[in-house]
Amino acid sequence: MSYRIKTKEIVTSAPINKNRWCLLDRDGVLVKDRGHTHKISDLEILPNVTEGLRLLKDAGFRFIVVTNQAGIAKKYYTREDADLFNCELQKRLAKENIFIEAFYVCPHHPHHTGECFCRKPNTGMLEQAQKKFFIKPALSILVGDKDSDIEAGKRWGCKTFRIASGQYPAEIKADYNIKNLLEVANILNR
Ligand SMILES: [Mg+2]
Ligand SMILES: [Zn+2]
Repeated sequence: MSYRIKTKEIVTSAPINKNRWCLLDRDGVLVKDRGHTHKISDLEILPNVTEGLRLLKDAGFRFIVVTNQAGIAKKYYTREDADLFNCELQKRLAKENIFIEAFYVCPHHPHHTGECFCRKPNTGMLEQAQKKFFIKPALSILVGDKDSDIEAGKRWGCKTFRIASGQYPAEIKADYNIKNLLEVANILNR
């Protein structure tokens, strides 16, 4: 005897108007920027990150990391080192119920591997994420700490937030300057 099982309709948990995305630079935004940060023993989540992401999550945002890792092109560390670091970061945030849904990594540097389309300020990583997750740039935000982050966000067409670390020159004007991630949700709510 055979049974025919009717396939259930799959309903996604997130309503379509909650498909808002927050693209995050990694070093200097989520973790302490030590310059070519790659050792797990150096992984330090910055103050207010967890709380800031939680507020954004409650506001309906989902998270993706877009990070330039030229240290790979320069052979300071390997792609695997970067992936392990990112996994550890993902794990630590998941313990706080914050889920990074994807990491996009540019392993290139123009002097070492030639030009590429992914290294910020190019928009390659943002476009890849856009295609994969059906992201609308105009509904999205990007948080970065360097001109290259802000420029990538502007070219792509999202709102940009710059964490002013004072570590890097700030010649490109972001939509908002902030001290830390906690401010992002507050600005969006006002
Ligand atoms: Mg950075
Ligand atoms: Zn690249």
